[in-house]
Amino acid sequence: MGKHARFSPSSGKRYINCTPSLRLEEQFTDEESSYAAEGSAGHALAEHLIKKHLKCLSKRPVSDYYSDELLAAVDEYVAYVIQQIELAKQICKSSVFIIEQKVDLSSYVEQCYGTADMVIVTDKKIQIIDLKLGKGVPVSAIENVQLMIYGLGVLNDLEVLFDIEVLELTIVQPRLESISTWEITVDDLKSWANKVFVPKAKMALAGEGEFCAGDWCRFCKARFQCRARADEFLKLAQMEFKEPSLLSDDEMAEVLTVADDLKKWAEEVYTFAQNEAIVHNKQWPGFKLVEGRANRKYTSEEDVVEAAKVAGYEDIFKQSLIGITEMEKLMGKKQFNQILGNLVYKPQGKVTLVPMSDKRQPINLATANDDFAE
Ligand code: SF4
Repeated sequence: MGKHARFSPSSGKRYINCTPSLRLEEQFTDEESSYAAEGSAGHALAEHLIKKHLKCLSKRPVSDYYSDELLAAVDEYVAYVIQQIELAKQICKSSVFIIEQKVDLSSYVEQCYGTADMVIVTDKKIQIIDLKLGKGVPVSAIENVQLMIYGLGVLNDLEVLFDIEVLELTIVQPRLESISTWEITVDDLKSWANKVFVPKAKMALAGEGEFCAGDWCRFCKARFQCRARADEFLKLAQMEFKEPSLLSDDEMAEVLTVADDLKKWAEEVYTFAQNEAIVHNKQWPGFKLVEGRANRKYTSEEDVVEAAKVAGYEDIFKQSLIGITEMEKLMGKKQFNQILGNLVYKPQGKVTLVPMSDKRQPINLATANDDFAE
């Protein structure tokens, strides 16, 4: 059984959209993830570097997670924050900078608190900047529930001291080269708090409301076994096609639209079930664990070299260049770009059919075919 339920702002979007998920998650233990530990290490380093810029006392943190790649990502975030700090100083002589600001929303919702990575206050504006080190999907600042909750908390603390009119919420995701910014007025934020945040959070804490699946399911602890989510996906698969015997183009397009989502969900469920079977010896009706195919391996490379040489074979070694990702890791992003930047190119990718919503530009197949032929 996990810890007692608490409305965590970082899961706020999920709790607001699917209120019973908060209590449902109580049945699950916390998922330990090296990503979270790496994220904490990254945030600690960012805090230190910003404090250093502001000439505050700080000791450089130490962590096994510090790779050149992580340091480069943190550097990008810190550079953005420093730019905003310097801009704020120009606009307002008495600007205030708070790093890792603890926000307490208990006056709105019981036991709701969190930490805003960076807060900048100028005359009439509060800026909240959030570092996300994820490599998955870019997170938008527009109507971002986590940052809106942080905004309310910061506003709570500071509105007696400053005449704040607007909040600027920013998410920096250096690994996806994404910076998303959105503004909301104090009045709109308070109105959202009264109409949406507080009532939904109360329902969530009470375990009330309807289950509702959506993109917020992504980090829900119940996502693999959740019935509402399964129903949603299975609903997608229940297509009813009438005569004639062959599907029309529109019907084919309908299948393609749902196929991708269904495939991802099925893979997730399969991975979860397999992991449960291997790690917890869980028996799934109609399924068993077997050994997968394996490739042959040498028992000892030294013995193989010796035996092959004794048998008169000399040409048994090959040397190969390390891959681009490994090289970039070795040199660091900056050095890599300086030394090898013009020696790296991106070949044309495999032509793939994707939905119109995909951000990539459509290709002209006639031109692409000519290019391939060259
Ligand atoms: S998986 Fe989605 S629908 Fe199910 S409880 Fe979690 S958030 Fe709600």
